[in-house]
Amino acid sequence: MSPLRPSKIVCVGRNYAEHAKELGNAVPERPLLFFKPPSSLIAPGEAIVLPAASSRVEHEAEIGVVIGRRLRRVTPVEAELGIAGFTCVNDVTARDLQKTDGQWARAKGFDTFCPAGPTVAEGLDWRTLEVIGRVNGEERQRGRTAEMIFDIPHLLAYISAIMTLEPGDLVATGTPAGVGPLAPGDVVEVEIPGVGLLSNPVRSDTES
Ligand code: ZN
Repeated sequence: MSPLRPSKIVCVGRNYAEHAKELGNAVPERPLLFFKPPSSLIAPGEAIVLPAASSRVEHEAEIGVVIGRRLRRVTPVEAELGIAGFTCVNDVTARDLQKTDGQWARAKGFDTFCPAGPTVAEGLDWRTLEVIGRVNGEERQRGRTAEMIFDIPHLLAYISAIMTLEPGDLVATGTPAGVGPLAPGDVVEVEIPGVGLLSNPVRSDTES
């Protein structure tokens, strides 16, 4: 079972300059937010299912923030005190559908498109976290929180001015450069040293 039961999963797009560049996007002036539905969550070891509707599904290794207390219109300093811990997130994305659809609910929202876990690590300093993405053991992504365009307390404060963050909510803080396609039979990993390793196999939706 996934350890997380968020009321919502709030995601941040283009929060690393190199990743914005690789997709041909400008660095945003303010955080770019979107949602993944809680129904997309899967646990470590569960399969990411490639939907027939997409011909290009990509991994996005991200640092996940799990909210520990209700945050509404807080300052960055207050937001920092509301962090329960950190977990690994794979913001799996149907890149072709992201480009054709004006809204990203489909591209980001298929069942199995949000592997998260394996634990929620407490007591870590958000300033020193690093996230690594691998496919079949080969490193594809590596990013540090120091490289983020908007740091974690500012992201939480920004979100909390729009919507109340509830305990257990999950915030995915954006992916570093190096995203790429997944194929059936791949194994994709997201690792945050000090937090743990999230590993998921990939299969097509025609397999039973
Ligand atoms: Zn993402």
